[in-house]
Amino acid sequence: MLVIKKISEVKDFIKKAKSDKKTIGFVPTMGYFHKGHLKLMGRSKRECDVTVISIYVNPMQFGVNEDFKNYPKDLERDAVLAEQAGADVLFIPNDAEMYPKGFNTKVEVGGSLTDKLCGSRRTGHFTGVTTVVLKLLNIVKPDRAYFGEKDIQQLLVIKKMVVDLNLDVDVVAVKTVREADGLAMSSRNCYLDSSERKAAAVLHRALLKAKKAWEEGERGIKKLCDIVSGEILSEPLARIEYVEGYSYPDLEYLDEARRAVVIALAVRIGKARLIDNIILED
Ligand code: AMP
Repeated sequence: MLVIKKISEVKDFIKKAKSDKKTIGFVPTMGYFHKGHLKLMGRSKRECDVTVISIYVNPMQFGVNEDFKNYPKDLERDAVLAEQAGADVLFIPNDAEMYPKGFNTKVEVGGSLTDKLCGSRRTGHFTGVTTVVLKLLNIVKPDRAYFGEKDIQQLLVIKKMVVDLNLDVDVVAVKTVREADGLAMSSRNCYLDSSERKAAAVLHRALLKAKKAWEEGERGIKKLCDIVSGEILSEPLARIEYVEGYSYPDLEYLDEARRAVVIALAVRIGKARLIDNIILED
């Protein structure tokens, strides 16, 4: 596995791989790998000739009071895991490489995909995400790029950017990988102490209650969200930021679900802000 810090070196590697008719899979990440990241890498490895993984904690997508400074890091361990997963390139640019002096461009998806959920709570977050992801896609020029359903709004926003800007990449969605008690794996789970970690299982448990109600015929979106909130409120360590439901995949407001909805939540437990979601469809 090559560990590359320079954009020009990644571009040279890709040029050569493409001239050898290799397909390129790309997994953009912020590092501190867990089994969710490894599943994305495994998919790329199976489906593409060459797998490129990036680790970049993108300052542009963090708000002023967020955890940019404290975001967990363990580059040595990540490099071992990426190599074990069969990655060909680990791209680890620094801020000067990604945002050189004078950088002054933003990429923004507007409308119903970004005006709600994390889009309305984390001002500028998705602009930071789409700006850095477009840069990374332009550097790596992958045939396929892998994203997790855990960050469902991010996935939808990136798909929309790819369509709107005519990018030649297949965005591949990968199902959420969970701990044994249902907690979605996340680099941020390391912020939880042991009692908070136990409490965090309430998120998935609550989403499963909505799934059960859906299977029993409930289609009222407010009702489905109330079921989720009610379960989360039963956990004293959990503080709800939002529990909301929208049509899936276009994230439009609806009273009654039609074919498919997504119930998404953000909940604070201790220092951690955790997100999760469930897609309910006929
Ligand atoms: P991150 O490093 O948290 O920015 O995540 C990098 C990629 O891994 C994103 O596409 C995430 O959606 C995906 N991802 C994160 N956690 C999980 C998980 N538990 N299951 C599947 N994919 C995940």
